[in-house]
Amino acid sequence: HDYVNILGVPFINTSFAEMESILTNHIDKQEKTFVVTANPEIVMYAKENKDYQKIIQSAHYVVPDGNGILLAANMLKKPITERVTGFDLTMALLEEGNKKGWHVYLLGGREQVNKRAAENIAKDYPGINLVGRHNGYFDWADGKVAEEVASLAPDIVLVALGFPRQEEWITTNYHRFSKGLFIGVGGTIDIISG
Ligand code: UDP
Repeated sequence: HDYVNILGVPFINTSFAEMESILTNHIDKQEKTFVVTANPEIVMYAKENKDYQKIIQSAHYVVPDGNGILLAANMLKKPITERVTGFDLTMALLEEGNKKGWHVYLLGGREQVNKRAAENIAKDYPGINLVGRHNGYFDWADGKVAEEVASLAPDIVLVALGFPRQEEWITTNYHRFSKGLFIGVGGTIDIISG
């Protein structure tokens, strides 16, 4: 693949459709995958926080979430095809999962937001098997929630803990899983909750 490095963050340069198909393929093959949807705020934060930068760099794919990333790429004379936002990617994956009966876990957001988002996913994507959900306000130190999520072996774990927490949670707990697509989806859960 073609990559564009913006301040230490390696963005994959694909069309949205291509990215969707790459991720669908990993899920179908049950290949564990970590995706970061990075906006300019994340790039700037990673520049100042080397631990977070390493986490971002450890992802299989960093996708350009927002026009600011495309503008930066243009300035570097390495144009990026198009935006691949966390929201659009989440919607596309839910559509695909609806057809294929994927198992999805919804982690993050305030309790009411998480609950309503889960209800909306169940209603709008009846083919999806929503295997579990948990709000994003819990103590991770004991690893209990992560253990619970891992025991359900989801195909997709949507992690909405806000950045940098969502990416930290994913890397901290990644070893517990043998498959699944892990993606930090920030405020997407708030949108889905309506
Ligand atoms: N969030 C959470 N736990 C936290 C902090 C945030 O579940 O400890 C949730 C928050 O309720 C919201 C989502 O993460 O639903 C995105 O939060 P925010 O807008 O702060 O993050 P960003 O969009 O900047 O990544």
